[in-house]
Amino acid sequence: MNASCANAASGQARYRKLKDYWNEVEGGRVQKISLHAGCSCPNRDGTLGSGGCLYCSNEAFTPAYCRGATTMEEQIREGIAFQQRRYPRAVGFLGYLQAYTNTYGNEEVLEEIYRIVLAEPRLCGIVIGTRPDCLPDRLLDWLGEAAQHHGKHLYFEIGVESFSDTILRAMNRGHTFAQSEEALRRLAERGFRTGAHFLVGFPGETWHSFFEQVDLLNALPLHSVKVHQLQIYRDTPLAEWWHRRPGDFSFPEKEAYFAAAARWLERVRPGLFIDRLFGDAPRRFTERGGWNERLDSIVAQFDAYLETHDIRQGRKAYSPARSIG
Ligand code: SF4
Repeated sequence: MNASCANAASGQARYRKLKDYWNEVEGGRVQKISLHAGCSCPNRDGTLGSGGCLYCSNEAFTPAYCRGATTMEEQIREGIAFQQRRYPRAVGFLGYLQAYTNTYGNEEVLEEIYRIVLAEPRLCGIVIGTRPDCLPDRLLDWLGEAAQHHGKHLYFEIGVESFSDTILRAMNRGHTFAQSEEALRRLAERGFRTGAHFLVGFPGETWHSFFEQVDLLNALPLHSVKVHQLQIYRDTPLAEWWHRRPGDFSFPEKEAYFAAAARWLERVRPGLFIDRLFGDAPRRFTERGGWNERLDSIVAQFDAYLETHDIRQGRKAYSPARSIG
């Protein structure tokens, strides 16, 4: 049992934060640095579709030091320098490939990019964000072997987004929930640690109803989950939808969202790490859905809410499921 598990068991932690897992395995603060691999997305380049998911705004996920014609080496250098200034006590950095679909494209090109990231001594690992339908066996095998060779963490973040195929279709995701389940199973069978990303509050689904589907989440072979409220990015098809039919959307007030998320947490299996529960996209990118507060302030308020209401992850009935510790 590592220390973060011990904290949860001894009552010190109200829920298992993924950042505590990283801090524990690396012995201090670990900071992600965003990197841009130059990938595209099958839902944008015409393979599956050309319009992309209705809410997609890759610009919002791409920090300034990743934009322009910078090499991967330059991005790593600038990303680490940037985060070192913000967090001088960080002991390690994770390369985080978030925007676009980072296991999609020419596999030799992808391997060349990942070889650079994995060989970088100042990075302790890599977090790869991708779609559930873009996980070729050969690339997974290569990534597993390369990460092991360099002694680096390899973590996947899969965009599951919703349990509902109706919602996935309406958002033009181009995949089903069953495809996500299958992808997570394949990653788990390889022993890879994996997180899933979900958005709460798509039209046709209230954020209440999302949180009611916790048993489906508990049954997935996941190491962590990242959930946040829907935020509408500027200049996206979803923003157009919202302007046309604002009544289709329901944006939670922060306090009401806290209450729903807290009830959900009580039913989340104890072994699952929580990567994130709130969105804080910069206001310049969003039209609606943000609370215009810093993430660390929102998290501190939520932690205080859990304390006040004596809420703890997994305290209520939950479906036991396979967990990767
Ligand atoms: S899969 Fe990701 S990158 Fe592709 S369109 Fe959807 S949100 Fe954007």
